[in-house]
Amino acid sequence: MSLLKFIENQETYFKSGDTLPISKRKRLLKNLKKHILINEKKIYKALNDDLRKSNFETFVTEIGILITEIDIVLNKIDKWAKKKRVKSSLLNFPSSDYVLSQPYGKVLIISPWNYPFQLALLPLISAIAAGNTVVLKPSELAPNTSNLIKKFIEEIFDRSHALVVEGGADTATKLLEIRWDYIFFTGSVKIGKIIALAAAKHLTPTTLELGGKSPCIVDDTIDLKLASRRIVWGKFLNAGQTCVAPDLLIVKKNTKDKLVHHLIEEIKKAYGKNPKESEDYPRIVNKINLSRLSKLIQDTKILIGGEYDSETCYFSPTIIDEPRIDSPIMSEEIFGPILLIISYDDENQIEKLISRYEKPLALYVFSTDKKFSERIIRNFIFGGGAINDTIIHAGNPNLPFGGVGHSGIGAYHGKASFDLFSHQKSIVEKGNWIDIKIRYAPYKGKLGIVKKFFKYLS
Ligand code: NAD
Repeated sequence: MSLLKFIENQETYFKSGDTLPISKRKRLLKNLKKHILINEKKIYKALNDDLRKSNFETFVTEIGILITEIDIVLNKIDKWAKKKRVKSSLLNFPSSDYVLSQPYGKVLIISPWNYPFQLALLPLISAIAAGNTVVLKPSELAPNTSNLIKKFIEEIFDRSHALVVEGGADTATKLLEIRWDYIFFTGSVKIGKIIALAAAKHLTPTTLELGGKSPCIVDDTIDLKLASRRIVWGKFLNAGQTCVAPDLLIVKKNTKDKLVHHLIEEIKKAYGKNPKESEDYPRIVNKINLSRLSKLIQDTKILIGGEYDSETCYFSPTIIDEPRIDSPIMSEEIFGPILLIISYDDENQIEKLISRYEKPLALYVFSTDKKFSERIIRNFIFGGGAINDTIIHAGNPNLPFGGVGHSGIGAYHGKASFDLFSHQKSIVEKGNWIDIKIRYAPYKGKLGIVKKFFKYLS
């Protein structure tokens, strides 16, 4: 059957109302959870084959997040899908007013390769929970995971309800020619712009989960050993191929040497003297990305690391000291295991540096000076972040996750995801037992009364 026919079938299926019963949504999601748990070992293998991820990382950053999300949906969906009564307006008296969450219809999800299991299935879970049909295109750069996702979805869902289409840019381009009711994209800013253009053609509502350069600020009040441990973890997890990984470390000048010492110590503790031999250190996704990273460190001052091997796609945890402000590594998102150190003397320099960039997806500040961290958090516009830690905000399903401006449009996780994949329909149900006639023409002599009436509306 052609792709277009499958998608036509999804439209018919959606219109039939078969995606709507809450009991069915729950059954399918329970089934997905069961599949994930039964096939845990296959998931570990796929992620290891694609990115050489350790089982620990795969569980914590892929499987665990999905299981938690499904459990939250199963516990809360009855409440989320219910009519939400709101206070009625006196203007409409007598009426009963409510908001109804309604699915959009046919949803297209396009996902990236860096957390290829989680970032494909997390939006699918909520799109299904909200009552939509889904076409999911996982990343071609994590082919083992993409195959496994396809297999799972085919085993659980009728294709008219959820379908996986594998392929790269050509396939995505074909999919974008179709008119969708919602598009959810996770990936780079460059491709995000292509998605936004395609969506604009049909005025399709869209979520864009993108990337950028995320700063991490460290002042001189913090325990540097503790800060280093948390920075090294957030930076070198998945070999730095994390959208919210700290990219620029902006450090108070008087602490720089000490911080660098601790960062190096923490890298050694986590991955040993030779990270290439560590089972816990992943690989770069492919040779193209490895070569991109190797070019970025040319003509830079390397404090640790800088080794790479194009055969095995190994790139060591690397720290670069004070890169030139106009160098390529200071302009593009690194998306690899390279941490930049830039020192500052006063807060104005932080402001000046961060203002050079588009609004980041994440920002972190390490300080025990509450006023300082509060100023940083409030003064900059960014997707989300943490005080005294890195990347952990992405793991709390109660915090909506997303960027702002160039780092993204829209936010998801937990309830925010259910709401994102549902149109919030506002309804006034008017009573007929009385009809207050003041709103009807002719208006002569009514303005004074109406003005008094408006006073009571707020
Ligand atoms: P990418 O933009 O290259 O690819 C993402 C998806 O888009 C893939 O499925 C790919 O096949 C598809 N694609 C490629 N060309 C396309 C085209 N012309 N038209 C339509 N679709 C096309 O991104 P990537 O390399 O897979 O992932 C890395 C980027 O994703 C980084 O910038 C990172 O910051 C970002 N990211 C963001 C988040 C987030 O939650 N905000 C999470 C992970 C990754």
